[in-house]
Amino acid sequence: TWGSVQNDLLKTVGQNNYLTWIEPLKFADCRGGVVRFEAPSSFVGNWVARNYREDILHHLVSAGVEVKRIEFDVAKLAQAARQVRPKGTERTMTPSPGDVAMDKPVPSASLQSAPLDPRLTFSNFVVGKPNELAHASARRVAEGGPVSFNPLFLYGGVGLGKTHLMHAIAWEAQARNPGLKVLYLSAEQFMYRFVRALRDRNTMEFKELFRSVDLLMVDDVQFIAGKDSTQDEFFHTFNALVDQNKQIIISADRAPGEIDGLEDRIKSRLSCGLVVDIHPTDYELRLGVLQQRLQDQIAAGETIAVEDGVLECLAQRISTNVRVLEGALNRLIAFSDLVGRRITLDLAHEALSDLIRAHDKKVTVDEIMQAVAKYYNLRMTDLLGPRRTRTIARPRQLAMYLAKTLTTRSLPEIGRRFGGRDHTTVIHAVKRIEALCDSDPQISEDVRSLLRTLEN
Ligand code: ADP
Ligand code: MG
Repeated sequence: TWGSVQNDLLKTVGQNNYLTWIEPLKFADCRGGVVRFEAPSSFVGNWVARNYREDILHHLVSAGVEVKRIEFDVAKLAQAARQVRPKGTERTMTPSPGDVAMDKPVPSASLQSAPLDPRLTFSNFVVGKPNELAHASARRVAEGGPVSFNPLFLYGGVGLGKTHLMHAIAWEAQARNPGLKVLYLSAEQFMYRFVRALRDRNTMEFKELFRSVDLLMVDDVQFIAGKDSTQDEFFHTFNALVDQNKQIIISADRAPGEIDGLEDRIKSRLSCGLVVDIHPTDYELRLGVLQQRLQDQIAAGETIAVEDGVLECLAQRISTNVRVLEGALNRLIAFSDLVGRRITLDLAHEALSDLIRAHDKKVTVDEIMQAVAKYYNLRMTDLLGPRRTRTIARPRQLAMYLAKTLTTRSLPEIGRRFGGRDHTTVIHAVKRIEALCDSDPQISEDVRSLLRTLEN
């Protein structure tokens, strides 16, 4: 079964993550609902436990394995080899809060918050320009006092720290006021509980429970878009709590008004408190996060030496998504651990070639024109010339679009390079291709494969 579960995991986590994290795991045994794996090092074990526990559990259950909990031990061989290391860094993973919750079936009548991750606190949150407003308002809400903005609506792209801030608020609010009833859950879990209450015919209980909390946090609310009865229930819960002056915090990947499939009354309700967006990270913030993560590892007893310039390189080239950035750093550390080499720029390029390469190269307008001409089997003179037949005009527009998105050239400059065209022609081309990317699968496929070609 592990073989087939491995296949499923490969699809879920992608090849790179799979090769780094999942493949090195050895299935040890399964006793009394506890599945044990051996990891080649505590580092790998910890990372897998933190990031892939749920995925592994999910696929094991789907494959029909009766599993309640997973444990990751360090392989005996690796352990023996590491005895020479001074610090006792090898240890069995401690179960996460998720495990504890899984051992005891959750009574439907109790008000269980989704497990809070102890690492997601304010002290671990690196503040920079892109997130300072979000951070400040999260702090304010966590400190309690008079409810000043309700709801607090946090939005931003994937991996920019929304969930982190919400967990941090929960920890802080609970620490300040242990009697406070804090309920954190994802919109998906909200829906799941609501549907279960409908099925079990105890919606009254559901309503009472939700209306008795002091601080409600619903993560990724865009999930309930288009799900009408859940939206309805959410709306009523929301109103009941606001009426009682209870604090609500909501997150989403977009601003309230931009969530398609969300009822207008909910959009306006969500917008009536404070709406704050978390911007994509900038270089300083990324570097700050990497430095902090490295410090954390070192504080936890890992011996890691990183050559100057490596963190800077990662911060510059990997991604604005902090999760991807952290993943890259950890992959690099694991890689250096496995091959027994120091963390240098060379090693970083080797270990993270897939991530670094994509951002490495500056593409020129010339290269774009050549790639497009080649792709559509045209001559450069066709792209630059005056002909307007569809078979030439469309590739030309696409090339302009790529020039605008991939280079820093201005619209008039791009126009000039394309046989002296006007900048409004370029604007038109960009808009046209953007629209076609949404409506025409052939064009969007062409764009994707050209992007791939140009990035390599
Ligand atoms: P989102 O919910 O917005 O998709 P998360 O809160 O899950 O993002 O963040 C993804 C990962 O990045 C988490 O491990 C989180 O701890 C980390 N992270 C994001 N922003 C920061 C930050 N400003 N400082 C430290 N870690 C961060
Ligand atoms: Mg999140």
